[in-house]
Amino acid sequence: MQVADSLKNIKPYLFATIDKKRDALRAQGVDVISLGIGDPDQPTPAHIVDAMAEAIKNPAFHQYPDYAGSIEYRTACAQYMDRRFGVDVDPDTEVLALIGSKEGIAHLHTAFVNPGDYVLAPSIGYPVYSIGATLMHANTYFMPMTADNGFLADFDHIPADVLAKAKIMFLGYPNNPTGAIAPVEYFDKAIAFCREHGILLAHDNAYADLSYDGYVAPSILERPGAKEVCIEFFSLSKPYNMTGWRIGFAVGNEEAVQALGVVKNNLDSGQFTAIQAAGIEALTGTQDNVAEMCEFYARRRDLVVDALHAIGVECESPKATIYVWAKVPHGYTSESFAEALLEKAHVIVTPGSGYGPDGEGYIRISLTTPDDRLLEAVERMRTAMAETEGFEPSNHR
Ligand SMILES: *Cc1c(COP(=O)(O)O)cnc(C)c1O
Repeated sequence: MQVADSLKNIKPYLFATIDKKRDALRAQGVDVISLGIGDPDQPTPAHIVDAMAEAIKNPAFHQYPDYAGSIEYRTACAQYMDRRFGVDVDPDTEVLALIGSKEGIAHLHTAFVNPGDYVLAPSIGYPVYSIGATLMHANTYFMPMTADNGFLADFDHIPADVLAKAKIMFLGYPNNPTGAIAPVEYFDKAIAFCREHGILLAHDNAYADLSYDGYVAPSILERPGAKEVCIEFFSLSKPYNMTGWRIGFAVGNEEAVQALGVVKNNLDSGQFTAIQAAGIEALTGTQDNVAEMCEFYARRRDLVVDALHAIGVECESPKATIYVWAKVPHGYTSESFAEALLEKAHVIVTPGSGYGPDGEGYIRISLTTPDDRLLEAVERMRTAMAETEGFEPSNHR
């Protein structure tokens, strides 16, 4: 038996090595605190769970779902786009239910990328953008993304031969993992660029509703001309604490949405209609829980940022997302620092290098851990670093 070359070209999943070390430590009885994966620790709001409990009794839902999503769910998605962004989309043709947005993002390549083509991905980003290309025997061009350009992926210097074969550009703001947000002028520039070069612009908006300090994230579809070239991905996972449910949606350019729909028609048979019913409640019911979660995460963010600054680790305070993106101290790489923290402090963080080439030199800390554990983790980091000989804080001058 031989697996496909495309599979051999996929690096081990970002968390695989760390998970192994964590399991070994836990097997020895060590209390390991994970600030690694971005998976909300709070339960799904009760009104959403109740909607599912009711829907599951409906025998009509026990049969195959509408592959594109029930018209009721797609209408709820359209209502959300209108309520939240003032964006008008046709639930019949411009909305597609997804089995989590990861599924839609991963399948977009099948709809638009030929072997040997290029996908343009941020050089720090959600790994699926480039893994999707690898699975299609296509290439990824990583658009530079640094603190100097505000972590806004730079598409001004793409070589002509890459551009000629580029089919999709992926962007995602508010950004996982850097926490960066994008000014609308940046979206306008990306839209103009993709229109000029005939590239599909895929915007991953998984954190649209988790923002702080009064910042409200836009949809790229609010921008003029966006619908000509953009597909946007939304996920119910993070705002509604629904990662386990697997529900999201794609919205935007009709041709792009329909092409993705054709791929999905042939690969899956849609999401359980009762889960879509819960999704309708999430999108159209009270949003009080989302506001509460934002307060929650903002408080945790402040705890972590203050504590990191106190121990000399450089980081910005993010206006959105559930992550703090921090610079590793001098003398470390992303991976060696993450390993040191695991070994000395028994704390798991994610090495920035796992998100792409420009992620080197950073770690990502997720805010999805209860406050007391989060504080203990930072305290352990402080102790471990104080005991490390030759340790120099990252903001040491
Ligand atoms: C969590 C996440 C997703 C995937 O969300 P699901 O809907 O659970 O598949 C997509 N993009 C980014 C940037 C994420 O952080």
